[in-house]
Amino acid sequence: MRKLENYLSGQWITGDGEGQELFDAVTGDTIGFASTRGLDFKAALAYARKKGNAALRKMTFQERGRMLRALAIHLLSKKEQFYAISYRTGATRMDSWIDIEGGIGNLFSNASLRRKLPDEIFALDGDPVNLGKNNSFMGHHILVPKEGVAIHINAYNFPVWGMLEKIAVNLLAGVPAVVKPATVTSFLTEAVVKEIIASKILPEGALQLICGSAGDLLSHVESQDVVTFTGSAGTGLKLKSHPVILQHNVPFNLEADSLNCIVLGEDVAPGMPEWDIFIKEVKKEMTVKAGQKCTAIRRIFVPENKMEDVWKGLKPELAKTVIGNPANEKVRMGSLAGKEQREEVKTQLNKLLATSQIIYGSLDSVEVMDADAKKGAFISPILLMNDSPFASSEPHDVEAFGPVSTIMPYKGVDEAIALSKLGKGSLCSSIVTADAKIAREYVINAATYHGRILILNQECAKESTGHGSPLPMLVHGGPGRAGGGEEMGGLRGIRHYLQRTAIQGSPSMISAVSSVYQQHARGNREGIHPFKKYFEELEIGDQLITEKRLISSKDIDAFADLSGDHFYAHIKDTDFNGTMFEQQVAHGYFLISAAAGLFVDSYDKNPVLLNYGIDELRFTKPVYPGTSIYIRFTCKEKTAQEMKEDATVRGADIPKGIVKWLVEIFDDTDEAVGVGTILTMVQMKNKLS
Ligand code: NAP
Repeated sequence: MRKLENYLSGQWITGDGEGQELFDAVTGDTIGFASTRGLDFKAALAYARKKGNAALRKMTFQERGRMLRALAIHLLSKKEQFYAISYRTGATRMDSWIDIEGGIGNLFSNASLRRKLPDEIFALDGDPVNLGKNNSFMGHHILVPKEGVAIHINAYNFPVWGMLEKIAVNLLAGVPAVVKPATVTSFLTEAVVKEIIASKILPEGALQLICGSAGDLLSHVESQDVVTFTGSAGTGLKLKSHPVILQHNVPFNLEADSLNCIVLGEDVAPGMPEWDIFIKEVKKEMTVKAGQKCTAIRRIFVPENKMEDVWKGLKPELAKTVIGNPANEKVRMGSLAGKEQREEVKTQLNKLLATSQIIYGSLDSVEVMDADAKKGAFISPILLMNDSPFASSEPHDVEAFGPVSTIMPYKGVDEAIALSKLGKGSLCSSIVTADAKIAREYVINAATYHGRILILNQECAKESTGHGSPLPMLVHGGPGRAGGGEEMGGLRGIRHYLQRTAIQGSPSMISAVSSVYQQHARGNREGIHPFKKYFEELEIGDQLITEKRLISSKDIDAFADLSGDHFYAHIKDTDFNGTMFEQQVAHGYFLISAAAGLFVDSYDKNPVLLNYGIDELRFTKPVYPGTSIYIRFTCKEKTAQEMKEDATVRGADIPKGIVKWLVEIFDDTDEAVGVGTILTMVQMKNKLS
């Protein structure tokens, strides 16, 4: 019988001894064995730090992003082979889509994040801080990739997504990973990692895989490493308090089980679109992935006078769920991941039954299609009812990790909020309501206890990604019982793998260190107009001081007429008593337009292709007629752009980059009256290699 392979220190290798037997969740057949006995995890971590980290940290965010995109495209081309294996975990095609293509989607999404990051191996964080009265001392924050390795210990429910959503983030940050999926479904993770390694898209040492027990892995972590854990709260607590993790202050991100809830708003009644949306969402969350989702709805809060209508509406919907062989197209709910997991669900259900009763489903029997109920890990959806939720702790404490949910009554939005919090912290809560007041009351007051809140109504239901779907651009994680962790969330997630260091010095020094021009730094004024330079020729700090331009009352009148902006402050006849101004004042937009008139070079074609927009713009002092303004125009930041793949797009064949310019507008007294950052697209001499 086949033994699963581990990918460690650059080799596919099996552990000693027989190892743990892995089963097909549907047929009960043996798939293989997983063992990590005798494997050298200390060496694997050292290999990741030495090889993988060294290679990744040399790449810029743009290069790492492109690498993720190439990986996503590659895995997508292999997806059918993953689907075929995924059925053996009990997952339907739809369940596997979330796992496989949802996971690959995370790679694409993180790849796109490169556009928000510099073409550098590090990034700046937040805004600069002026620390001196004479503008010669400042501070900033810099983010550099940690020198360690990301160790991901994952749960069994999403063997592909669980890995990809995490490695997408650490790889973009420039940190390698060692992934340890839960053993029971690790055969699918193994298949994906085989493809990743064979593709050679990642540098050697960027990804390693452990199929089987984690052994002494955590005994070898160091302070530059990051450990993430997804699984049960019990295991999480044990690992989080590992002495080596505590001793070296290793960041530990915990995502644990949680008692997520949905609230039916008091405004919603049968016949309203929101009623059907609610019934559909509950059914979906109970049955997708056979309820083995960390975000699945475990608690359903319903206004007490609508309890009966809700369960009468839910029962026939649940009854429509065809359970059985997930490879059969008619089947809507497959099996649990294994028989052990089914036993665990039953144990938890029995605890719930201390205070609740079953109103739909059965613990002991299930009708299945195209499968043998005795051989596979099948279970029916089970809906429980508890009519005294404030007096019972079980529905708020006990997670049955399967298609199990409890319906409970509430009176008034305050009770719904209080009940939602009895879960002691969850990953996600939803409220279905068409009433904005109810939605606001719930969101503002319940948010402290939930990592994500979905407000569902008719307007968004069609496009809604659903209660149970964590999204790469939104944070995933929750307080308290849910683990207190936070991952994903776009750039927020990447920061977990970057060291944030405050840096202080002169503006010129911070500009040189960070490759971003800082206000008040020295500029290079060597005579050539910066608009005459190609992208590669421009240097951060290239600077131009323009001629002066007198702003007259006639100019302001003309701009008011041209733009249609006749705000009273721009009209010379206005009685200015009681206003913020002494007399007719120039439009801020006139000043920035006049600034362009001063810094733009000539009518001749030059490497500047177009004006791309304005990032920030502030008007800091009123400009009255008779004032002369001049501009200090400085090259602030450069980001090369990739060529567009679609050759039909105008300009697709022109190699180019985005250049940010700091525009400072001064008056006769050399005082700044405005400051902004404008963006231009500038042609490159050569294509990006
Ligand atoms: P689990 O038993 O806690 O296992 C989670 C992971 O920890 C597995 O990879 C497991 O490996 C590993 N592990 C167990 N003991 C370990 C040890 N002593 N040292 C190192 N690693 C160890 O959880 P599960 O049964 O796989 O997953 C189900 C639970 O996960 C549910 O409660 C669910 O709510 C939760 N979950 C939470 C999230 C979230 O994002 N918050 C997501 C998915 C699931 P082995 O498989 O080799 O034992």
